[in-house]
Amino acid sequence: MCGIVGYIGNKQAYNILIKGLKRLEYRGYDSAGIAIINQGCKIFKKQGKVSELDALVKSKNLHGTIGLGHTRWATHGEPNDTNAHPHESMHKKFIIIHNGIIENYTRLKKRLEDRGYKFKSDTDTEVLVNLIEYIYIKGKLDAETAVRLALSKVVGAYGLVIACTDEKDKLIAARKGSPLVIGVGEQEYFLASDATPIVEYTKSVIYLHDDDMAVIGRNGMSLRNLKSTKIHKKPIIQKLELDVDKIEKNGFAHYMLKEIHEQPRSIKDTFRGRLRPDVNALKLGGLHYVMKDIIHAKRIIIIACGTSYHAGLVGEFLIEEFGRIPTEVEYASEFRYRDPIIYESDIVIAISQSGETADTLAAIELAKSKGATVVGICNVVGSSIPRATMGGVYTHAGPEIGVASTKAFTTQVTVLIMMAMEIGYKNGAIKEEQYSKLIKELSLIPEKISTILKQGDYIKEISAIYKDATNALYLGRGYLYPVAMEGALKLKEISYIHAEGYPAAEMKHGPIALIDENMPVIIIATKDKSYEKIVNNIQEVKARKGIVIAIVTEGDNTISSMADHVVEVPDTEFALAPLLTVIPLQLFSYYIAVMRGCNVDQPRNLAKSVTVE
Ligand code: GLU
Repeated sequence: MCGIVGYIGNKQAYNILIKGLKRLEYRGYDSAGIAIINQGCKIFKKQGKVSELDALVKSKNLHGTIGLGHTRWATHGEPNDTNAHPHESMHKKFIIIHNGIIENYTRLKKRLEDRGYKFKSDTDTEVLVNLIEYIYIKGKLDAETAVRLALSKVVGAYGLVIACTDEKDKLIAARKGSPLVIGVGEQEYFLASDATPIVEYTKSVIYLHDDDMAVIGRNGMSLRNLKSTKIHKKPIIQKLELDVDKIEKNGFAHYMLKEIHEQPRSIKDTFRGRLRPDVNALKLGGLHYVMKDIIHAKRIIIIACGTSYHAGLVGEFLIEEFGRIPTEVEYASEFRYRDPIIYESDIVIAISQSGETADTLAAIELAKSKGATVVGICNVVGSSIPRATMGGVYTHAGPEIGVASTKAFTTQVTVLIMMAMEIGYKNGAIKEEQYSKLIKELSLIPEKISTILKQGDYIKEISAIYKDATNALYLGRGYLYPVAMEGALKLKEISYIHAEGYPAAEMKHGPIALIDENMPVIIIATKDKSYEKIVNNIQEVKARKGIVIAIVTEGDNTISSMADHVVEVPDTEFALAPLLTVIPLQLFSYYIAVMRGCNVDQPRNLAKSVTVE
C-alpha cells in the first residue's frame, strides 16, 4: 500500500510531487507528506488527503528541484501528522519515504534507543531512517554504503526512496517486495510506486526488481544488487504503454463510475488479438509454453484475494465445466500459511489486478518452491506477479484507480473463460460446436454490457429507495453465487452497509432468519439450469416479507410478477452470465454509496494495491 513519489532534475519538484501523489492516492490516503531538498530540507506532513496537504503547503512557494512525497496507508502507528512520511533521522542527515513493513523494527528500535536515539513517531519507517543514520555516522560511510548495510539488517518488505542532506544531489532507491518504478527523462528522473505519476513526463521506465538499489543523480544513475557491492546491473529501459487520458476521470463524477462504464471496452481489450470469432479461434500467447502442462494437469489451484478471489470462484466453475480438471480456489493469505499439499504436477493460477498483492506473491513463491507450475492473471504490465510466474495472461483493462474493483473483475472472468475454453478444447473435454458457440457469445458480451449500462438511471432510482438500509443479502446459484459474493463486497466496501453474499440454497441454513420487511435481498436469477430453484428461493423470501430486487433475463415475466424490482440483462450462455449480472450490482452499490455521501473512490480503511500482508 501507500504511494511513493520522488523527483530529481531541473524542474521545480513541488508540483510534480503533488500531482504524482494525487495520482497515487488510490493506494493509501490516511495522510500525506512532502520533502523538498534545497539548501536545507523542508518537510510538510498532514493527516488526511493530498488536497489538504496541498492547501497547507501551496502558499509557501517551496523551491527546490529534488523532492520526495508519500501518501500513507498506516500499518504501524495511527494516521496522524507525526506518523505521516517523509521521516527524518534524529540528526537530520537522512529523509525517507517507505512502502511496506519493517518486521524486526521493535528489536532495531530498542538497540537504537540504547544508543541514545529518540523517536517522534510510532512507525517502523522512522526506525529504519535512524538505523541508516546511525550506521552512516558510526562507520563514517557514504550514504549508499550506509543504506546498503542498514537494509542488510532489515527483515520485511520495502519500496524506499532516501535523500541524504550531506550528499544533496542524489536520491537512493531500493526495493524488496514493494513496487518501485523509475522514469527516465532528459537530465531528470522520476520515482513512483507505479507509472501513473510518471507517464505525462516520460514513457521510458525502469522497473526495479527485488534487492535492487539505485543511486540516482540528475545526469545518470547506477543500479546495483543490494546483497553484493560487486554486482552492477544494466538498467533495462522499457517503454510505457499507458496514456494520460486513461488515468483521468474523463467527465465522470468518480473513477469507479468511469471504470464501470469502461467495461465494454476493457473486455474487448482483454480479448483483442486473442479471440477471433471471424475464424473461430482463440489464442492465449502468454500460456504458450505452459499450455501442454495445463491441459493434462490433474489439479488446478487458483489463489487470489478480495474481488480477484470471486473471479477465481467463477474460474473454478468454468475450468471444471469446460476443462474437466478438478479445480480449487483459495485465499492467498490462507494458502501461504497453512502448509498446503502441492504436487509438482499442479497448476497454480494467481489472480491479482495490481500484480503486487503481497499475500498472492508469497503464495506464488510457496507453490514454486514445491515445484508447481504457476501462471498469472494480472492487469498491471511489468508488475511483480507476471515477473514471478512462468506464463500468464494480462487483462489489459487499463489502470483501475477506483479502490472498489469493477473492470478488474469482469476482465479477469473474461480471461478465465478463455482459459477454460482453451483447456477444454485442447484436451477434448468440449467439442468444436460448443467451443464455437462460446467464442461467438463471448464476442457479443461488450455490446450486451452497453445495453445494461443504459439502465443506469433506473438502477439509481432503485438505489434511492434502499440507500438507508443497514443490511442486505445477495443470493445466487451456480455461476451466479460468486457474483452474489462480489455484489455484497461492493456494497459493503463503498457504502459501509453490512451485506452478505450466499449461495441461494444456503439461505435456509441461517440467513433466512435475518429476513424481514426491511431487508433488501438481491437475487441474481437469470435463466440457467437452476432457474426453477431460484424462483422457489424468491418465494421463500417473499413469504417472509423480504424485499426482492431480482436480476433477471430479458423478458422474464415469472420473476417480475413476484419481485419488488427487476433489472433485466440480455440472455447469454450460462457460463458468461457473471459478466452481465455483476454490472447492475456495481451500479447499485455505486449509487447507494454516492447517496450516502461516502467517498466512493477512496473508501475508509482500504487501499487499492495491498502490498502489505
Ligand atoms: N509501515 C509504514 C507505516 O506504517 C509504511 C506503510 C505504507 O506502506 O504506507 O508508516
